[in-house]
Amino acid sequence: MLFVNELFYSVQGEGRFTGTPAVFVRLQGCRCQCPWCDTKFTWKLGRENGVSLSEILEKSDRPGYATVSEEELASHIAATWPQAPMVVVTGGEPCLFDLTAFCRLIEAQGRLVQIETSGTEPVRVTDSTYVTVSPKHGMPGGREVLPEALGRADEVKMVVGCQEDIETLDALLAHVRPGARLSLQPLSSEAGATALCFETVLERGSRYHLSLQTHKFINVR
Ligand code: SF4
Repeated sequence: MLFVNELFYSVQGEGRFTGTPAVFVRLQGCRCQCPWCDTKFTWKLGRENGVSLSEILEKSDRPGYATVSEEELASHIAATWPQAPMVVVTGGEPCLFDLTAFCRLIEAQGRLVQIETSGTEPVRVTDSTYVTVSPKHGMPGGREVLPEALGRADEVKMVVGCQEDIETLDALLAHVRPGARLSLQPLSSEAGATALCFETVLERGSRYHLSLQTHKFINVR
């Protein structure tokens, strides 16, 4: 079973698949408790339950989640958004769940699955799943990014506010596959952070990319 906090259709605004139409599945639960988190409504488990999937479709940015089987969720997505080429599973921390069965069902529909994870929980997906690990610098409680999560990443997307964040990424690179894409994303689209990401991408070249939160330019989720 999966705990679904939000379910909506939009365009992937960040990273490798920027501009791609996608169904977003936001799962409930996260143990990281980052002070800057913009989805704090997803943190808690075991409360605010009793919500149906149809009610989830009509809410956003609020507590409350639907408890749904992988089969029911995949069928619902197929019936509601048959045109969507991909499904993005985010959170909260989606890797609190074993996502293998759900990924397999979506892939059987001919769609790509991308998961967006902090990398602090074991990644349980299919071999075809596109895994984006977004390390969080300075998490409370000393939570660390797992080397095996970095080793599974197809993309490492680092939110960068200052040079120290780039150094944090550099320290993690020993665990990242040589072919993985490295996306630098300016913190809150700030001018200084954007300039730093821009200059670093130009300087380093190769697998470095600039990731902008393009959905915020047009004020969509
Ligand atoms: Fe929020 Fe992500 Fe940090 Fe979890 S890992 S607290 S969802 S920012």
